[in-house]
Parts: sequence; structure tokens; C-alpha cells
Amino acid sequence: MTVSKGREFLSIPGPTNIPDAVLAAMHRPAIDIYAGDMVAVTHGLLEDLPRIFRTTGRTYIYAANGHGGWEAALTNVLSRGETVLVLESGLFALGWGDMAGMMGVKVEVLKGNPRRAVDPAALAQRLAADTAREIKAILVVQIDTASGVVNDIAAIHRAIASVGHPALLMVDAVASLGCMPFEMDEWGVDVAMAGSQKGLMTPPGLALVAANQRALAVHEHADLRTRYWDWTFRNGEAHYQKYGGTPPQHLLFGLRKALDMLFEEGLDAAIRRHALLAEAARHAVGRWAEGGALAFNVVRPEERANSVTTVLAPGFDPGVLSTYCREKCGVVLGRGIGDLQGRAFRIAHMGHVNAPMVFGVLGAVEMALGALGIPHGRGGVQAAVEYLGREVRP
Ligand SMILES: *Cc1c(COP(=O)(O)O)cnc(C)c1O
Repeated sequence: MTVSKGREFLSIPGPTNIPDAVLAAMHRPAIDIYAGDMVAVTHGLLEDLPRIFRTTGRTYIYAANGHGGWEAALTNVLSRGETVLVLESGLFALGWGDMAGMMGVKVEVLKGNPRRAVDPAALAQRLAADTAREIKAILVVQIDTASGVVNDIAAIHRAIASVGHPALLMVDAVASLGCMPFEMDEWGVDVAMAGSQKGLMTPPGLALVAANQRALAVHEHADLRTRYWDWTFRNGEAHYQKYGGTPPQHLLFGLRKALDMLFEEGLDAAIRRHALLAEAARHAVGRWAEGGALAFNVVRPEERANSVTTVLAPGFDPGVLSTYCREKCGVVLGRGIGDLQGRAFRIAHMGHVNAPMVFGVLGAVEMALGALGIPHGRGGVQAAVEYLGREVRP
């Protein structure tokens, strides 16, 4: 017996739920790529994306996933033989660093604790020791979607500034843009990148990269530049140059609608919504954890991300829980990835989500914990409901 028929609940940390209005905006014939609507949408997006990144710098849109955005960011500002420092806080910054390594960049990793955010003091210490100023860029993710940690980018920038180090600060905001505050200019971020399919509620396939004046100056003598990713080429006047070829039209119409929705809600309101729904999920997980069979991956509450919660499962096989949720309830949970494969599951609360969606997922998990006989504290869903009832007043 199952109770799984009905709309499937996707609770993986990307791709995320796509609003019907975004899907509808994409449902149209192909159009001219040299004039009319397409050109207007490009101009509108290139004006609005800096408002999301919170920068006066330039933004670039690529037909690519997040990995493409990583490559775009790296090739535009780095040269062969230069050194980058990767700040470990889970999985994703390491992947970005590996990519730099394959391009002929020297990669040093500032080791981190897999259950903690990056330590700005350790960064300051490492940079102070770099008296020859060999480190040209620092790679860090704001939210690591594997560990569920959120890094304090402002504090990381203060650490860099405290020792007067000139390295570029490059931030992966794939799982945070539109979900948690991101202040590119205020936080001294030189290059930021994101993808369309997480907080931005659009199908996968668009990578977004933002660069400030410092990054654009370094770009001029970067020797890893290639035609497809190249900012200079994309700064050209012809419309097709903005995409290095045919624009990914339908995704662009989708993104246009998604940004309209985000601005209509208000970026601050969307960020607050994520904080509330994440805290509701954490209330449930905290209660379940009292049974001893599961735990938060991120040790410190203030370092837990508002877009995804990673739950360790020392007392059971998380695959069995996920299978139950999917097959019996129609809820798709995120699996543990990297070192957490087979050891954790992830609850996403990112993008186009509201209270019933989060309650639905939490309810299915609690149902699974009971049905599978996994020891857990009772009343997790109740705790989530009561928390939101206290915070969201009439
Ligand atoms: C999802 C994700 C990526 C990778 O994006 P893809 O579109 O899968 O290439 C990179 N960084 C972070 C933090 C992510 O969450």
C-alpha cells in the first residue's frame, strides 16, 4: 500500500520546484534572435541580475550549469601557473578547485572541519604568511549544499582585508542567491557565480557570473581566457555575443518570469521566507534528533544554511528512509553526497517553497521514521508548526 499518488514533492537541493508561471513563460515558439522580445529580455536581465547579486559590476549569462559558471569565473581572471586558495567547508569549493587544477592553476586547500563553516582567523593566518603574494584568488562557497553549512562571506572578506592581501575573492552563490543575503559589493566579493536552478526557481541550464571592476581589470591579462567564456567578447555590441552564440531563449524567458516573481515578493521577503521555513525544518530535525539515531551535520546552529538541512543518520541507513519517502509518500529527499554518501539525507527548503510544502516533507519524514521503527523524538512536525505559528502573526 502506498499514499504516493498526487503531485510529487521534490525536496532535493537543486534543481528545485519550478513555479507554474515560470513553466508557462517558457511555453512559446522560438523567436528571432536579432531583434524584438529577445533583445529586450537580454537587456532587462543584464540590468536586473546585478540587483540580485547586489553589485554595480557587470553580469554575464551562460548556457551552462553551475559547473560551467565555475569555469567561466576561473578562465576570465586566472593565468597558468598562478595559485588559488580553496576554502574547504564541504564538497563544492573542492570541486571548483579541482577544475582550476585541470587548467594548470596551482591549487592549495585551506583544510576545514566538514561540520563547520570556514574559519576566517585561519584564513587570515594563511594569507599573512603569503608574503610573496603568490595567492591570486580565494575560492569559497557561501552555502555548501553537501554539508549544509553557510559561510560568513563578510567575515572572510574582513580576514583578507585585515592582512591587506590583494587576492581576488571569488564566491559560489549557487545555493544561496535568492535564499540568504548576498551583498557582493558590500562584502568585497570580486567574482560571484550562481545557477538558474536553485533559489532562482528556473530549470537548470543558465550560469550567472558577476564581476566587479577589480576582476574586470585582472581579466585583461588573464591567459586562461577562451572564446566561449570570455567577458570581453561578451561585452561586444552584437546581441549574439552576449551568449557566445544562440541565446538559450526559453530558459531566459523562464528566468525573466522568476526574477519578476522574486521582485514582486521582494528579495528581503524571500530571504525572510527561507529563514522561517528553514528554522521550521530545524525545529523538526532537532526534535527527531532527541532519539539519538540522527543529528544535524552542521554542529553550530548559526552555521546552518537556510536553503538545505543536512541530516546525519548514524543510527540507520538513510537510503531506506529516502526510499520509503519516495515510494510510499511521493516525497523525494536529497541524498548524502561526497563523504556523506550513505551516511546522511538532505531536506531542501530552497526556491519556490511555502509552509505546506515544508510541512508535507517533514510529515513524510516523520511518518517514515515511525513506520521504519527508527528511534526519534516525537512531535517534530508539531514543533515546526508551532514555531511558524509563533513567527507568522495574523
Ligand atoms: C548545485 C551546486 C553547484 C553545481 O551546479 P551544477 O548546476 O550542478 O553544475 C555548485 N555549487 C553549489 C554550492 C551548488 O549547490
